[in-house]
Amino acid sequence: MSQPLFAKMALIGLGLIGSSLAWAARSRGLAGQIVGSARSEATRQKALELGFVDHVEAEPGALVAGADLVVICTPLGAYEDIARAIGPSLAPGAIVTDVGSVKQAVIRDVGPFIPEGVHFVPGHPVAGTEHSGPEAGFASLFEDRFCILTPPAGTDPKAVERITQLWRACGSKVEIMDAAHHDKVLAMTSHLPHLIAYTIVNTATDLEESDRAEVIKYSAGGFRDFTRIAASDPVMWRDVFLNNREAVLEMLQRFTEDITGLQRAIRWGEGDKLEKLFRRTRNIRRGVLEQHQAGTFDAREPEKSAPTAPDPDKENRPEE
Ligand code: NAP
Repeated sequence: MSQPLFAKMALIGLGLIGSSLAWAARSRGLAGQIVGSARSEATRQKALELGFVDHVEAEPGALVAGADLVVICTPLGAYEDIARAIGPSLAPGAIVTDVGSVKQAVIRDVGPFIPEGVHFVPGHPVAGTEHSGPEAGFASLFEDRFCILTPPAGTDPKAVERITQLWRACGSKVEIMDAAHHDKVLAMTSHLPHLIAYTIVNTATDLEESDRAEVIKYSAGGFRDFTRIAASDPVMWRDVFLNNREAVLEMLQRFTEDITGLQRAIRWGEGDKLEKLFRRTRNIRRGVLEQHQAGTFDAREPEKSAPTAPDPDKENRPEE
């Protein structure tokens, strides 16, 4: 690309998603300069050492001065303080976006601090791994994955178009969605599965020592897929559940009713009912494969250590 999309890209948060976006932008020449900020000195230094940022700042306010693109890539619980800190330093015409897994809460926490003349385009790349930190990122994380943008009513369409171009250039398929709808859909497709995985692994942890050892030994029977999801970052996921409370509770209620139905079918030996349900769910898996979004529950998936730039085995890469 001859002319970068953005002159100065400022990333606040340099973990899995921030570093992956930096690698993706670097490898494709999407930004003239990439600067970053993280909470700890160790992360800032690691980002410089790995080379995915040109410059770091401890204070997000100092970081965003003169940036035409600001991307918030921290856990959701930090957003409001960050927005308050950067608001006065944002350059006129700049675009602020983010990668948070919940969108109504982001609009609530960040929106009030965006000054007149600055654009705000919330976003969520539906891509990830269970690894975190600046060493976990890689350039192709977003390839063939969806990125959902949830611009509030009245957002400048040109700003939405520029963020769309950014994610498309990173290899993503971009969808525009209402923030409330996003939160409801993701509660089902991402948040509830994580809650179930955390619960199953926790239940196994409470077993007697000998039973627990057997669970781990024979984990390829299904349990190990849950352990991967349940290894996801505890702070990030704490913040997701605290910030998408209503949608998650609604999906959890439906799930609880359905599992009670299954419990009943097993108790009363209703094989037809079980088989009918399992056949129906098998078709959903086919739909996932057709959308090229598979990868998580492949029992043949090889053991892998944390991926680093530029790319792990893409076909077997887990999802957020
Ligand atoms: P991560 O790897 O844990 O990185 C978080 C980064 O945020 C770290 O650099 C951390 O700095 C920094 N940070 C934390 N609190 C901060 C604060 N108060 N001020 C400044 N920096 C702060 O997390 P991640 O997986 O990249 O997730 C980041 C965001 O992406 C979350 O909002 C999450 O919902 C969203 N997301 C995650 C995934 C996924 O699969 N992981 C997928 C899509 C979207 P230190 O290292 O110094 O603590």
